[in-house]
Amino acid sequence: METNLYTLIPKVDEILEYEIVKEYLNSSPRAVVLEAVREEADELREGIKNGENRSWIEEQLEKLESSISSRIEMKLHYSLRTVVNATGVVIHTNLGRSLIDRQIMEQVLRTAISYSNLEYDLDKGTRGSRYDHLEQIAAKIVGGEAALVVNNNAAAVMLVLSTMAKGKEVIVSRGELIEIGGAFRIPAVMEQSGAKLIEVGTTNKTHLWDYEAAITENTAAILKVHTSNYRIMGFTSSVDSEELLPLKEKYGIPVIEDLGSGVLVDLSKFGLSYEPTVSSCIRKGVDVVTFSGDKLLGGPQAGVIVGRKEYIDRMKKNPLTRALRVDKFTISALEATMRLYLDEETAIKRIPTLRMLTMSYAEISEKAQDLMDLLRSSISDLPVAISLEDDFSEVGGGSLPMERIPTKCVALEPLAGSAVILEKGLRGYEVPVISRISKEKVLLDPRTIQEDELDIINKALLFAASKLKECR
Ligand SMILES: *Cc1c(COP(=O)(O)O)cnc(C)c1O
Repeated sequence: METNLYTLIPKVDEILEYEIVKEYLNSSPRAVVLEAVREEADELREGIKNGENRSWIEEQLEKLESSISSRIEMKLHYSLRTVVNATGVVIHTNLGRSLIDRQIMEQVLRTAISYSNLEYDLDKGTRGSRYDHLEQIAAKIVGGEAALVVNNNAAAVMLVLSTMAKGKEVIVSRGELIEIGGAFRIPAVMEQSGAKLIEVGTTNKTHLWDYEAAITENTAAILKVHTSNYRIMGFTSSVDSEELLPLKEKYGIPVIEDLGSGVLVDLSKFGLSYEPTVSSCIRKGVDVVTFSGDKLLGGPQAGVIVGRKEYIDRMKKNPLTRALRVDKFTISALEATMRLYLDEETAIKRIPTLRMLTMSYAEISEKAQDLMDLLRSSISDLPVAISLEDDFSEVGGGSLPMERIPTKCVALEPLAGSAVILEKGLRGYEVPVISRISKEKVLLDPRTIQEDELDIINKALLFAASKLKECR
C-alpha cells in the first residue's frame, strides 16, 4: 500500500531552513518569501488531492528549491516592467507606444531629482507658468501663435470643445465619427465636453454644402477628425480642412482639426504614405490643431494643442486645464523631444519611433541575419528551425492604418509542441519577448527590436524551447 503522500511534503519551517530560502530571507521581505513557500506547499497538496502519484511528487520535490526561487522572483517583479517588442508594430499602444531616447531621459532625470523652474519665472523671480516651457518650442517647430499641452490627445479634444463650444453646436462629418479604442469616441467626448454634435453627410460622402447647410447661429465650430485608424475605400469623398476655410471667412466659424497622430516630418520621403503634417494644417489656416505626443511625434504621452492665441488663452483659463495638466516629467521629455525637430535629420536619427519607421529594408535584413546567426549558434540541439521570412511591419497607434512596411523577420518553426507554446514561452521569460504567430511559425521583426535586446531574445528562446522539449 502507498504511504501517505502528504507526509512527503516538507513542513514550512523546514523549507525556511533551505540555503536558498535563507538567502532570500536576508535580501527580500519575509512576507513575500513565506507566501511563496506556502503557495508552493499548497500546490503539492493540491496535486496529491487531484490524484498525482508518488513519482510526480518526487519529481516536484527534486525541483522544489528552484520552483520556490522562481516564485519569489515573480513576486518581487514590478508590475510594470520592460518587454521586448518583436511584433514589428512600432507605435504599439499596449506596449507603451513611443520609446524615449536615453539622452532625453537623462534630462528628465536631472529635472526630476532637482528642483526646477517648473512654475517659476527666473527673470522676475516670481511665479511662472509650466506651459511656457513648451509654448515657444512648439510654435517654432509647427507654427501657430500659441500652444498648450495636456495629458493626452483625448483630453486635448475635450478641452478644446469645452472651451470653444460648450452649450453650442459643432459640425462633424458622419465619416469622421470615429472610435479610437479605450472608449475614445468622438460623439461621447463631445457629449462630455458639453458641445452638441451636429452630424452631416453620410458615412462615405460628405460635401462642402453639407457643412454649409448645417450652419446656424448656434454653430461654434467645425471639427475635422483625422480618421487615423481606418480608411473608407471606394466611392468616397470628404472635405479637406482647407476647403472649409471659405466657410470660416463667410460665417466667422473657427475650424478645429484633431490630427491624432500628428506627423511633424513628411514621411513620404521614406516611402510611407503622405499624411498632412501639423505645420501644413496650421499654415493652411486651421484655427486649432490637436495631436498626440506619443504617436508619430515620438515623445511622452501628451496632447498638444496649437493654434490661434485667442482660443488657446481661453483654454488656459478653463478649470478643466488644471484637471488635465501635465507633470514635469512630461514637460521635460516633450521639450527635449521637440527640440530635436529643430533639425529634421537629427529628429529622424534620435527619435526612436522615427528611426524605426524609416529603417531601410537593407538595414532590417542585416539585423535579421545577425539575429538568426546568433540564435542558430546557441540553439543547435533545440527543437526549433530558424529561417528568414519577408513580411510587413506596421506603424500602429492607429496611425497610417493601410501602411505595410516591408520587413524581414526571423521565423521560428517549432519541431515539437506548437507555435502557440513557443510564443507563450517567449512571453513567459523574465524579460518577456512579445512576438506574433503566422502560419505555425513565430515571427520576430527586427524593426522594433533594440540593439541591446539580442541577448535577451537568445535567452528567452532557450527558455521557450525547453517548454517545447517537454512536449516531445
Ligand atoms: C489617437 C487619437 C486620439 C487619442 O489620442 P491619445 O493621445 O491616445 O489620447 C484622438 N483622436 C485621434 C484622431 C487619434 O488618432
